Amino acid sequence: MTWTATTRYGLDTAPDGLALVHDFLNTAASGRPRQPDLLSDPSLATEWLRDALTAWARQWSTPVLDGVELDTLTERDLTTLRRAREELVASLRARHLDEADGHGRDDARGVLTDLNIAVEAGFGPDGTVHFRPKGRGWKMLLGLVALEIRRAQDAGAWPRLKSCKNDRCRGVFYDRSRNNSGVWHDVRTCGNAANLRASRARRRSTGGQSAVGSPQVG
Ligand SMILES: [Zn+2]
Repeated sequence: MTWTATTRYGLDTAPDGLALVHDFLNTAASGRPRQPDLLSDPSLATEWLRDALTAWARQWSTPVLDGVELDTLTERDLTTLRRAREELVASLRARHLDEADGHGRDDARGVLTDLNIAVEAGFGPDGTVHFRPKGRGWKMLLGLVALEIRRAQDAGAWPRLKSCKNDRCRGVFYDRSRNNSGVWHDVRTCGNAANLRASRARRRSTGGQSAVGSPQVG
């Protein structure tokens, strides 16, 4: 079992449990040719969730999914999941704003701030703590997503999960650059295309007199 949503875009997944969040965000439609939104249809979504939970469970030394029942996700589950996904991607995209713009962020309460979710925790014989999903449908997934975001925030990995700055792409990638400066999921495709558009715009605004600027490699 693999992280099917992220690997279909040819991207490496985030480390450890953060890969679950990464894969969840990449269920969105993106890429060329356009891949489907995996949360647009209950059977597609249930198949994705089954694969994702299996991949997620592999990081624990305990069989954390034993006794966990996975029902088919309903249309209602998908509505909540898509809204949660949208809000999370929006929070990642807000990082592309300049520091100065950061104060104007939309802090309106959304579906995420009103969630009532839980995870189950347990101890292994050696004292290792593990977690299990709790609840059904969207609750089962978003409980784990919240847990993994918090683990990543504590580990300092959360700021490395990013939504490609190319508005037409929005692929979510894990930035492994040393100074965490990447903004494109792939510099060759999204980065170069954006630089080309920017240099054309510069030339237009200066009546074709301007030299092509040095590309900004993200
Ligand atoms: Zn991209």
